[in-house]
Amino acid sequence: MGSGPSAHLAALRNAGLYRRRRVVERALPGARCVVDGRELVNFCSNDYLGLAQDPRVAQAMAAAAIEFGAGSGASHLVTGHHRAHHALEEELAAFTGRERALLFSTGYMANLGVAAALAGRGDTVLEDRLNHASLLDAGLLCGARFSRFPHGDADALERRLGTAGRGHRLVLTDGVFSMDGDLAPLPRYAAACRRHRAMLVVDDAHGLGVLGLNGGGTVEHFGLGAADVPLLVGTLGKAFGSFGAFVAGSRDLVDLLVQRARTYIYTTALPPAVAEATRAALGIVRAEPWRAARVLAHAARFRALAEQAGLPLAASSTPIQPVLLGTPQAATAASEALLGRGLLVSAIRPPTVPEGGSRLRVTLSAAHAEADIERLVDALAEVLKRYPVQTCPPPGDRSVPGTSGGQSGV
Ligand SMILES: *Cc1c(COP(=O)(O)O)cnc(C)c1O
Repeated sequence: MGSGPSAHLAALRNAGLYRRRRVVERALPGARCVVDGRELVNFCSNDYLGLAQDPRVAQAMAAAAIEFGAGSGASHLVTGHHRAHHALEEELAAFTGRERALLFSTGYMANLGVAAALAGRGDTVLEDRLNHASLLDAGLLCGARFSRFPHGDADALERRLGTAGRGHRLVLTDGVFSMDGDLAPLPRYAAACRRHRAMLVVDDAHGLGVLGLNGGGTVEHFGLGAADVPLLVGTLGKAFGSFGAFVAGSRDLVDLLVQRARTYIYTTALPPAVAEATRAALGIVRAEPWRAARVLAHAARFRALAEQAGLPLAASSTPIQPVLLGTPQAATAASEALLGRGLLVSAIRPPTVPEGGSRLRVTLSAAHAEADIERLVDALAEVLKRYPVQTCPPPGDRSVPGTSGGQSGV
């Protein structure tokens, strides 16, 4: 076989790993969207609280665009740092209980920036094996000694910290694992880091706004604070329904990122209107805790119904509910069959998940109705009779996931 792009593409198609994009014509309230002229119920967005379509958030963005213009015009350290960004940073610091917060354009860039600013040659970066691709890339690219420990295994982390070299030690983990929906054992990771003078960084892209008494995420869920998790990464394109990301921590740590994080320094600041939309969303997250309660209740309802129906669930109590199918072909066929029933559920395949771990990734939203959940479980039960699980190695000892995977593996 040749080695050009067409041979490469053919190999991906043959392996069932070819990815294609869906053109969304419109997003509608109630977690609906229109694709190819058909209205579908969307079970794969990360809009957990239903804020991406909230008219108050959209209005805030529109009003700010009229007032401030479409773009920021420069990077933060030149003239791009607008008072809308500054106000949002102060509100995010208060929301997360940290001294300061710093906006980044995306979560991917936040993670690359943090790792490269805090670790390099002579240092050690340790990561949970199932971390998001952006954290894995950050660890690989920063030039430090890099290794992954088995998923959720605090003892393995402790052992690796025990043999780490003299340099800085950085431990990076997801709070909620993005493809599995389970939580990192943060109290144990934090204790190991304290004993070995390592800095723990938690990327809580899927926990913030959803978990914890006040929406403070996985760290709050476990009753931990800034002393346990000195640096917290959050994204704004998921529960907050807008776009962008932030890092929250002590005054000095954040100041160091301003000086050294290249993905902060060498890029255009977010449009101020995006910051204003996020400020509106943050106000709603605070004022309407029923949204988080509702999406968690949907997750519990989905699990109860799916268990009755005998579906292959994973151990997750978050709005991320994987249905494990094994091969990429089974996952893709099941996703297509659900699409035929008006339900949009993405098939996630390697390298986003390990070999043998292909799955449907169901995500729930406060915007769903209870009837949507029932309809989904009924459809899944029918579809899985036709595309049964094609078994795979047990989770736990999985091959190393690739680092080029994304969120939308359809
Ligand atoms: C989505 C996600 C990111 C990337 O955030 P973007 O703002 O979409 O770039 C980073 N980390 C985790 C854990 C994520 O789920």
